[in-house]
Amino acid sequence: MVSLKALRAVKVTPGLAARLALLPFRRVKNPCIYCPGICLASCPTYTATGNVLLSPLGYSRFKEVAAKNCLKCWRCSFECPLGFQLPETYSPEPAKPRLHSLKPGETVLVADLELDAPYAEKLAEALGTGLALVSGVAARYSEGRPLDAGATKKLVKRLGGAEALVAASPEVSHALGVDFFALHLAELGVKISYEGPVHVPCLLKPVEEKLLKALEEAGVKATEVDDESCIKQGVKKGYLYLCPRAAALGATTIYDLASTQELRGAAKVK
Ligand code: SF4
Ligand code: SF4
Repeated sequence: MVSLKALRAVKVTPGLAARLALLPFRRVKNPCIYCPGICLASCPTYTATGNVLLSPLGYSRFKEVAAKNCLKCWRCSFECPLGFQLPETYSPEPAKPRLHSLKPGETVLVADLELDAPYAEKLAEALGTGLALVSGVAARYSEGRPLDAGATKKLVKRLGGAEALVAASPEVSHALGVDFFALHLAELGVKISYEGPVHVPCLLKPVEEKLLKALEEAGVKATEVDDESCIKQGVKKGYLYLCPRAAALGATTIYDLASTQELRGAAKVK
């Protein structure tokens, strides 16, 4: 749903609303050409620089600028009234997610080889879940490639359906339509003793409320919430991060806490 912040940033006149409403019927490949930038206020590279070239409007017109500067954080797509998935339009070649290995379990943690496999291996062992390692997801969030819809569907089916799966990273969750594992901390039997500021990953913005509730139920006391910055621009000292990539930047992550703190034993995620 379009946020108030986005609506305040752009004057949505009746004419503009009518133009946008008709776009889906016109087979328009790039609606950014028609839209004045309803999602601008959500774009971290635009808010950091004030430069329209470094915004969805610029990236949709100049793919080489986008490939280099767009963070592929997907924040704009969550605000776009047309649901345009701009961050996956920078390369014409679809990425095909594939299964690399599978250790079965009642609940299976899914991780991408390039993104989060080392954290997922530790977590799956601590939680007593199965583990599926896949490839091909990372390219969507690093290169801006679309995902091959058929290959994605086939992979989820092969893994036993989204209900039995939890994703080890926000990227895998977003790409495969599988819940991020932290949404099920209580069911997985994880208790986390942490009090301090928490960062909400860009790709989990649509489930922010549910995520913060799940963290709270597991014992996390969030004194402050940062749901505006992207870790690709750097991490803040003292914050708890939920993105595996943040660990490489020296941040404290939920992976360290969830796999080393008291676990009550794995349960099936419902
Ligand atoms: S992504 Fe959507 S909201 Fe953003 S500029 Fe393009 S059409 Fe407008
Ligand atoms: S993916 Fe992120 S950085 Fe790229 S245009 Fe969208 S909001 Fe801006």
